[in-house]
Amino acid sequence: MRVGVIGGGLSGLTTAFHLQRALPEVELVVVEAEPRLGGKLRTVDVEGFRFECGANGFLTSKPDGLRLAEELAAQARLLPSSDLARKRFVYTDAMHRLPESPPLFLKSPLLSPAQKLRVLGELFVPPRRDGKDETLREFGDRRLGRAFTDVFLDAMTAGVSGSTPEQLSVRAAFPLVVELEQRHGGLFRGMFARRRRQAGPGGILMSYAGGISTLVERLRESLRAEWHVGDPTLALEPRVGRAGRRGWLICTQAQPAGIEVDRVAVCATADGAAGIVRGFAPALAERLGRIAYTPISIVGFGYRRRVAELDGFGVLTTKSARQPVLGVLWDSSIFPDRAPPGAQSVRVMIGGLRNPELALQDEAGLIATARRGLAQLMQLDAEPDVSFSCRWDRGIPNYPPGHLANVEAIYALVDDHAGLYLGGNAYRGIAMNDCMRNGRELGERIAAGMG
Ligand SMILES: Cc1cc2nc3c(=O)[nH]c(=O)nc-3n(C[C@H](O)[C@H](O)[C@H](O)COP(=O)(O)OP(=O)(O)OC[C@H]3O[C@@H](n4cnc5c(N)ncnc54)[C@H](O)[C@@H]3O)c2cc1C
Repeated sequence: MRVGVIGGGLSGLTTAFHLQRALPEVELVVVEAEPRLGGKLRTVDVEGFRFECGANGFLTSKPDGLRLAEELAAQARLLPSSDLARKRFVYTDAMHRLPESPPLFLKSPLLSPAQKLRVLGELFVPPRRDGKDETLREFGDRRLGRAFTDVFLDAMTAGVSGSTPEQLSVRAAFPLVVELEQRHGGLFRGMFARRRRQAGPGGILMSYAGGISTLVERLRESLRAEWHVGDPTLALEPRVGRAGRRGWLICTQAQPAGIEVDRVAVCATADGAAGIVRGFAPALAERLGRIAYTPISIVGFGYRRRVAELDGFGVLTTKSARQPVLGVLWDSSIFPDRAPPGAQSVRVMIGGLRNPELALQDEAGLIATARRGLAQLMQLDAEPDVSFSCRWDRGIPNYPPGHLANVEAIYALVDDHAGLYLGGNAYRGIAMNDCMRNGRELGERIAAGMG
C-alpha cells in the first residue's frame, strides 16, 4: 500500500511518522512544494546568531511535543527555555511586567482598582448557554471586563497568532477556555478545579539544541519515504487502477503525469489544499479557500555586545499602544544557544491582523519598522551587528466566528472521497502541540483504515 502525504510541514511529517509507526510496511510518498521541509519551522544561523523564522518552540503544558521527542529518541536534544523567560512584559503606555500571580495582579498598574474588581467579578458571571460562536472580544468583555480584554487578551492574541480579539472565535482558538466556562460555570472556578486535580508546575517553552529545525531533521531521518521536495503538487486526481482498485494520482510540477498512491493525506496550507482538490471537489475547494491567513514577519537582530537589559521573555504590545510592532522576543535570554557568549539577540514580530500592511514590506522596510519598534518600546537604538528577516505573507490561519462550522463542512466533504484525508494547522489548532496531536490522530486513523 502506498500513501501520499502532501505538505512537509510539522503536520504532514508527524502524520507520516505516526502512520509508519502504526504500519511499518506502508510505502510513504512525501511531496513538498518548497525546496526544504518544515514549513513554518525553520532555523537560520547567521554569523554565530541563531534565528527562528517561525515557531520558537512548544509548551510542555500539553504532552504532544515531549511525547514526540521521546518517540523520535530525541529527548537528549530538547532545550528548555531559561528561567529568565518566565518574566514577561506588556507595553501599554510604557513597559509593565505581566503579573503571573494573584498578588502581582493586585499590585499591577495595568488595571485600575475598579477594573480589577470587575475581573474578580468573573466569579459571579453566569455561563453562556446558547452556544453562540463568540469572538474573544465578546467573551472577554462579558466574563472579565473590557479593560482586561484591551490589555491582556489583546496582547496575548497578538503574540500567539497575530490576530485580534475581535477577529478570533474563542471556541475555535481557545476551546479549553470555553470548556472551563461550560463545565465549571466560569474561568476562575474552572482553574481552581483543574489546579486541585492536576498539581504541579505549568508548562515551559521547549525547543531543541540547534533550533526547531532539529525536530524537522529528526522527523526526516526517522521516515523511510520516497521524497519529492521542491516539487509543488498541482492537482490530485481520483483514479481507478488495475482490478478496479481505487487510488489517487498526485500530479506535481516535476511529474505532471502523476505519482500513484492508494491513499492521500493533504497536509498543505488551506490555499494549497484548495488548489489541489479543485478539479474533482470544487465545493471543498471553495470552503478551503474561505480560510484566511494572517501575514506576519519576523526581524532578528544580533549584537556582539551587551546593549540592553533583556531580563525576561520579551514584550508584547496592545492595540491601544499604537506601536509599529506586535512585540519583541528577547531571544538570547530565552534560549542560551541563540547568541554567542557575551552577545545578545532579539526578534521583532511585525504585522498581524492589526497592521497587515507592515508585514508585507520589503526587507529594508521591515528592518526600519523593527528598529523603530525597539527604540520606542525599549529605547534600544544600538546599531545591530547582524540582521535577519523572514516574511510570511500567509503566516498563520485565522479562526474567526464561523470557522468551526466551515471546518465541519470541510470534513464532511472530504469524507465523500474514499482514501482522501486532510490535515494541517488550518482546521483544529495552530500551536505546534496541536499540529503534533492532530498529525498523530490522522496518521493512526489512516493506518487503522488500511489495517
Ligand atoms: C511567525 C510564526 C511564529 C510561530 N510561533 C509559534 C510558537 O512559538 N509555538 C507554536 O506552538 N507555534 C508557533 N507557530 C505556529 C506553528 O509554527 C504552525 O502552526 C505549524 O508549524 C504549522 O505546521 P503545518 O505543517 O500545519 O503547516 P505549514 O508549516 O504551513 O506546512 C504546510 C506545508 O505545505 C506545503 N504546501 C503548500 N502547498 C503545497 C502544494 N501545492 N504542494 C506541496 N506542498 C505544499 C508548504 O510549502 C508547507 O511546507 C508560529 C507560526 C508562525 C508563522
